[in-house]
Amino acid sequence: MYDWIIVGAGLFGAVFANEASVKGKKCLVIDKRNHIAGNMYCENIDDIWVHKYGAHIFHTNDKFIWEYVNKFAEFNNYINSPIANYDGELYNLPFNMNTFYRFWKTTDPHKVKKIIEGQREEILEAKNLEEQIISLIGTDIYRVLVKEYTEKQWGRKAVDLPANIIKRLPVRFTFDNNYFNDRYQGIPVGGYNQIIEKMLKRCDVKLNTNYISARDEYRSSAANVLFTGPIDEYFDYCYGYLEYRSLKFKSKVLNTDNYQGVAVMNFTSSAEPFTRIIEHKHFEFGSQPRTVITYEYPNEWKPGADPYYPINDEKNTILYDKYRALAQKEKNIIFGGRLGRYQYLDMDAVIRQALDLANLF
Ligand code: FAD
Repeated sequence: MYDWIIVGAGLFGAVFANEASVKGKKCLVIDKRNHIAGNMYCENIDDIWVHKYGAHIFHTNDKFIWEYVNKFAEFNNYINSPIANYDGELYNLPFNMNTFYRFWKTTDPHKVKKIIEGQREEILEAKNLEEQIISLIGTDIYRVLVKEYTEKQWGRKAVDLPANIIKRLPVRFTFDNNYFNDRYQGIPVGGYNQIIEKMLKRCDVKLNTNYISARDEYRSSAANVLFTGPIDEYFDYCYGYLEYRSLKFKSKVLNTDNYQGVAVMNFTSSAEPFTRIIEHKHFEFGSQPRTVITYEYPNEWKPGADPYYPINDEKNTILYDKYRALAQKEKNIIFGGRLGRYQYLDMDAVIRQALDLANLF
């Protein structure tokens, strides 16, 4: 008999499993995939750690979380500085003085502020995403760096998207290409899997195992369950499907040591169907003779497809609240993680939530 069955060997399940097993609890961790680490999983191809489910950059402002995660891996000093490519023209991201210089050839931050002010439309209440973004950063940047990229991402025209998808955009009036504002940032040297492996070392782990298909059997073999899979799946979609935005990845091994000179390049024009090309070796400053690149394509989500980004609009929020109400009636089962709580969470937030939960037991 186990104290806990933890469904999902992703970060949430693994942090919880680590904490519980350190306290002497007997844990079984199961995952329906054939590997641990959930969406942080890295595959080694030609000695390069490839982020299989999209680029993962660890960043946090929380010193405690940074020190916690550093107990499980050594992190390098990677700083995310993506490049935007619009029909072959390159711009620095996030929007900063380097970007503004490319548009308006001025190095004076006050002039830049005036140019943006002049292009901003005073909109009291934006009716759609296009109005919202123009009211934040004006027309030039919207046209080249935001409009077509956002439309590819969401598969809809910006005028048909709700304004509240983007509440603010990072704008800096310094020459600073560091994408994140957080104090701590890096990539684990040797990929993310080692973190999860170490967290699970005191637990029994079963892969290729779907909890839903034998839930009664698993339920009776443990006192408690932590479920980090999709909450609607747990309840057999009885109220309908929670919706997601999905992604498709296509990777290639290339016979060159350096394809694009940067880990993340965003393609902001509608001319390309993909939104980003990731060149994985640059996350770890690799010097391998070959390289692996991944094209990232936004994809409509259909039941059965990999769920990536929850769509937290009104309709889905109401649906999630109904599932949450059902979840609260369940005995000795807790729902956690990005799928269990139908919430986009960065990795640092996942660790924080899982630690807070583990502290209750
Ligand atoms: P997951 O990693 O999804 O783990 C859940 C696990 O449960 C999965 O392994 C799944 O197979 C398993 N499971 C589900 N249902 C069942 C079932 N019925 N039976 C058994 N097993 C089941 N965060 C950052 O901080 N920085 C980034 O740069 C970043 N980039 C991201 C890029 C993309 C494209 C996406 C989608 C997310 C990104 N994130 C990033 C967020 C990060 O992926 C999450 O914070 C983290 O993976 C969430 O961990 P989790 O354990 O909640 O979920």
